[in-house]
Amino acid sequence: MRRAPAALLSLALLGCPSEDGAKDMPRGPALVVLGTAQDGGLPHVGCSCERCARARTDPGAGRKVASAAVVAGAQAWLIDATPDLPAQLEDLAPRTGRPRGGVDRAPLAGLFLTHAHVGHYVGLALLGFEALHAQALPVHASPRMAAFLRDNAPWDQLVRLDNVRLHMFEGAGTVTLAGGVTVAPLQVPHRDEYTDTHGFVIAGPRARALYVPDSAPWAAWPRPLPEVLAAERIDVALLDGCFYSPDELPGRDLATLAHPLIVDTMDLLQPLIDAGGVRVIFTHLNHSNPAVDPGGAAALEIRRRGFEVARDGLEIPL
Ligand SMILES: [Zn+2]
Ligand SMILES: [Zn+2]
Repeated sequence: MRRAPAALLSLALLGCPSEDGAKDMPRGPALVVLGTAQDGGLPHVGCSCERCARARTDPGAGRKVASAAVVAGAQAWLIDATPDLPAQLEDLAPRTGRPRGGVDRAPLAGLFLTHAHVGHYVGLALLGFEALHAQALPVHASPRMAAFLRDNAPWDQLVRLDNVRLHMFEGAGTVTLAGGVTVAPLQVPHRDEYTDTHGFVIAGPRARALYVPDSAPWAAWPRPLPEVLAAERIDVALLDGCFYSPDELPGRDLATLAHPLIVDTMDLLQPLIDAGGVRVIFTHLNHSNPAVDPGGAAALEIRRRGFEVARDGLEIPL
């Protein structure tokens, strides 16, 4: 058994910040999970299934659309701009301790984008002239993603009015943030109608995290996922957990599914979990996914096998 990774030790020291506030404890940089639902949210837009109906009446059962923030001191860098961006900025504000009162036109030190699917970038609209009117917010994106924003309305207005400044990944694309944290893009296969798609390796003094909310099944990766986790020395992997198993989608041909299934990901990564060197946490859950329910059989099975399901507010020390 390998020694416990730095991430686990730090987590133990920090306790559970989202539960008790943990205001008085020293806090280093962290990856703060702000949303864990697939693009359509939970409740899912227009859906009246039992799970979505419950999420409407019990906000604790709901999940915002998948995103996360790298927080270091009073600065925060958002990964993806979701349709829930306004509420997610509010969730972030106490964590960064930014002064309240009046409109904060610079609530973020920057933003990283994975790709141009609605759950991942349409929140940018709220940064524009009609809403926040952000000023020169650095947006880090692939050259294709940056060109998509620069060349298409209404996103081009954000660029023309200098609400955002596009920073294209260059070379390895590593961006150095505060607190000794770096963020490096990792291209992943996905439905790439408008742009290519990236995950991010987020490395801090205490731990290295991989954030891949959206991906084609792992078999489509040019390099096997376990090799990537080893090569990047990942302590914590937040991975696409859109669907749990084929049972969830009766009548659908598995070969056409655009996402890895949680049951397959667990089979692939079980040896790493058993070796004790890495945390694997599922995010970007579709409303049909039974793992959404914390007390359900799917969530229990995931925990039994040593994996985790992300929840909004989860903090991963970096
Ligand atoms: Zn998505
Ligand atoms: Zn997508």
